[in-house]
Amino acid sequence: MTPEELARELARAIADSGTSEGRIRVFVRGGTGDRGDFDAAFLDALLAEMPSLQGARVEILHPAVLRVCSGCGHFFESAEHDATCPECGETPFPAWLEERIAYELC
Ligand SMILES: [Zn+2]
Repeated sequence: MTPEELARELARAIADSGTSEGRIRVFVRGGTGDRGDFDAAFLDALLAEMPSLQGARVEILHPAVLRVCSGCGHFFESAEHDATCPECGETPFPAWLEERIAYELC
């Protein structure tokens, strides 16, 4: 899904929860592009979808995900889509190709 589609989905989930106050923490995992570009597009779309969020603080986080090296099979964690193996420097097998999001209201 595009950042815009994910933002629309999140906006619907927030509206369904009946919460429009407070802070929203969004966890983004996966993705093959630049994280800054994704965050900017996502935030723009989210605020366009839910203008009431303007006052709330939206925090976008990129937790590390488990990766498996395609060269030596080493398991390691990284939040970067273009991570390299700390053991041998090879690239890992693709993780999630598309961004997936989770969120919490706090
Ligand atoms: Zn390796």
